Amino acid sequence: MLKKRVYIPHFMMKILIDNGHGENTAGKRSPRWADGSQLFEWKYTREIAKRVEEELKKHGVDVERIVPEDTDISITERCRRANQIAARVGKQNCLLVSIHNNASQNGKARGWEVHTYLGQSKSDEYATVFWETAKEFLPVGANKMRSDWSDGDPDWDSNFGILRGTTCWALLTENLFMDNEEDCRFLLSPEGKSVIVDIHVKAILKIVGK
Ligand SMILES: [Zn+2]
Repeated sequence: MLKKRVYIPHFMMKILIDNGHGENTAGKRSPRWADGSQLFEWKYTREIAKRVEEELKKHGVDVERIVPEDTDISITERCRRANQIAARVGKQNCLLVSIHNNASQNGKARGWEVHTYLGQSKSDEYATVFWETAKEFLPVGANKMRSDWSDGDPDWDSNFGILRGTTCWALLTENLFMDNEEDCRFLLSPEGKSVIVDIHVKAILKIVGK
């Protein structure tokens, strides 16, 4: 069970949105389903990132996408961009959100995950806000929250480059499994896209207290 906690919003938080892969990244796509539909992670996460950015701007949130390009930008360069901004605004006042779709070996896994770097920091608190929001917004069929409670909170501790290399608070969302047909169909549907956008927008609004 999640401990009851009082969450203090950070009104001055700068939000950095990272849409990981590029059009030239190998793999990172769903199978082509019987009806010809297919999800490309770079394209999907950019669409989500743009919509999240637009929505947040409407609410007056200080938000910036660190990968405006369609091509694959290395983790080193993405960390450099994020850290440059974090140095300017203060790394305590900056949260990076990296948006992804998950994949498994056999196409059977389903569900939603949030990751932070190893150990406990403010990032874990922010990840919990995301987790709670995802749980609230995902419809029952897709609502398979994949959690790691071993350290008392629902996020996964992961040694991912974008989490390790950034100086600011950072978390990474794995938005359902693109290689599971049910998850993928939901992701590609207009309803599914709105849900994924809403999870990010609503969680960030909670974090910045708007
Ligand atoms: Zn990814």
